[in-house]
Amino acid sequence: MNLKIRDNLWQVGGMGITDKSDAGVFLLRFGDKAVLIDAGSGKDHAQLKRNIDQLLGSDARLEYLLLTHCHFDHSGGANLVRADYGCRIVAHELDSLYIESGDDKVTGAPWYGSHAEPCNVDLKWSGPEYSLTVGAGKIDAIHCPGHSPGSVAFVTRLDGELILFGQDIHGPLHKDWLSDEEHYLDSLTRLLELDADLLVESHFGVIEPREEVRAFIEYWRSPIGVSHYAVLYAPDDWDERRKKSDPGKQEAE
Ligand SMILES: [Zn+2]
Ligand SMILES: [Zn+2]
Repeated sequence: MNLKIRDNLWQVGGMGITDKSDAGVFLLRFGDKAVLIDAGSGKDHAQLKRNIDQLLGSDARLEYLLLTHCHFDHSGGANLVRADYGCRIVAHELDSLYIESGDDKVTGAPWYGSHAEPCNVDLKWSGPEYSLTVGAGKIDAIHCPGHSPGSVAFVTRLDGELILFGQDIHGPLHKDWLSDEEHYLDSLTRLLELDADLLVESHFGVIEPREEVRAFIEYWRSPIGVSHYAVLYAPDDWDERRKKSDPGKQEAE
């Protein structure tokens, strides 16, 4: 089963489609060339493959697997996808480190009852931005550190609309993942500036129109959003912040 989002854009993996350990997996087609955004955990690769095959048909080829970051729910199935399609795996160099070494702690694999297999990254890029041409289409990768050191958002234009793949915009942040709150908030600001028409989020699905995209990102940047992810991150000033973000609670205490 695939979930059509737009002409030439589908969700092919994720909770309810493949395994519950899978973050959203998305396929973009530009004529006879296609890219996959994230690979899921690999736990239900057979279904993911059926979904992809259905969309590629006999005439299209999967050129790239673009990884948004190293976490297991996004990258665990990368080796399997490459083995089937011969596509090139692309990731930011700061997360490639943990994908290539199969680092259980930073990829969070044990959270899914698994462990991370080392996976070579074919194309490691560095710096703030990187552009890829896929057939007649173009995808821009934007380094958005914070959730992980090498987290990436992707943007592309489809029929005049600016589509943002902002996986794990909601965080959370965790010390084991080398999360960085200051970077995270800066990255959210950067994503707001894009003013995207449609946000594809790996755990929250599709968010539109533009005003809703803005509201969603602003929420995670606000003290209330911050108080959500702080549950995991537990910074030293957590209690103080929680009170600030919830004045009602402050009075009650
Ligand atoms: Zn995730
Ligand atoms: Zn993540």
